[in-house]
Amino acid sequence: MGAQIIDGKAVAAGLRARVAEDVAAFTAAHGRAPGLATILIGEDPASAVYVANKRKASAEVGIQGFGHTLPADAPEADVIALIERLNADEAVSGILCQLPVPDHLDGVKLTGLIDAGKDVDGLTPLSAGLLALGREGLRPCTPLGVMVLLEEAGVTLEGAEAVVVGRSNLFGKPMVQLLLGANATVTTCHSRTRDLGEVCRRADVLIAATGRARMVKGDWIKPGAVVIDVGINRTDDGLVGDVDFDAAAEVAGAITPVPGGVGPMTIACLLQNTLHAARMQAEG
Ligand code: NAP
Repeated sequence: MGAQIIDGKAVAAGLRARVAEDVAAFTAAHGRAPGLATILIGEDPASAVYVANKRKASAEVGIQGFGHTLPADAPEADVIALIERLNADEAVSGILCQLPVPDHLDGVKLTGLIDAGKDVDGLTPLSAGLLALGREGLRPCTPLGVMVLLEEAGVTLEGAEAVVVGRSNLFGKPMVQLLLGANATVTTCHSRTRDLGEVCRRADVLIAATGRARMVKGDWIKPGAVVIDVGINRTDDGLVGDVDFDAAAEVAGAITPVPGGVGPMTIACLLQNTLHAARMQAEG
């Protein structure tokens, strides 16, 4: 294996430690901690675990948690009333509505009601628009985490050929915008892309987010390229990414492992976003 392993666990731990210091300074200066409100609707076990992990990580860095759990059949009006209450609550710096929501609710509509200044997931239409316009705003946590990893790995994005495989609203599209903002030349691929391997072979920076286990092959990678694997797939061999890691690591210059690569960055960036939101609100 020739590639440098980009250690997301270590980078995330460093970021969390820095956020904890800054949260302590914020709390001392303002007499209150930044606050993160979580909204969990229904009993989806994976969502419950994600929210519990986010709450635990927030508490560890000194962010005050406000946990709201609603029943699976909660009427839309109740969820809207809760979001409006949290928007108006000065103790709440950031609001996170865990997706997916139950079928009778519209997740895009509900998250869109979150005040853009408290949108720590960066997923509301206003936050997406600010990102597309290159304006200040809160950015989605996973693509933001990838940018931090690329910076920590010393990757030069200006003028680089970057290829993003996947165009989801949650990851692919905001990732493309962040790379464009860093002056990379960006190609977006998806399930209808012709000759995906050929496009990937152009990439100095290749980012895979498809949810297809080991889909990106070793011979799709340009020698020396930086490979970021966002995928999390449960297989009989355990957790694997969207990249055939062993083959890719022979060719790439640097690569993120799964687990221990992008995954730990998401929550670390959520904490950073919550602090950022609290500071913006404090500055008025
Ligand atoms: P998603 O909404 O299902 O989107 C998948 C994207 O991949 C779509 O744009 C799809 O194309 C594309 N795609 C699927 N099969 C393809 C193929 N054979 N060739 C080329 N493109 C293909 O998934 P997501 O939410 O973006 O998540 C992607 C992966 O990242 C998942 O494994 C997820 O678990 C992981 N993830 C991890 C984190 C983390 O914290 N580490 C956060 C978010 C996501 P179409 O648009 O044409 O359908």
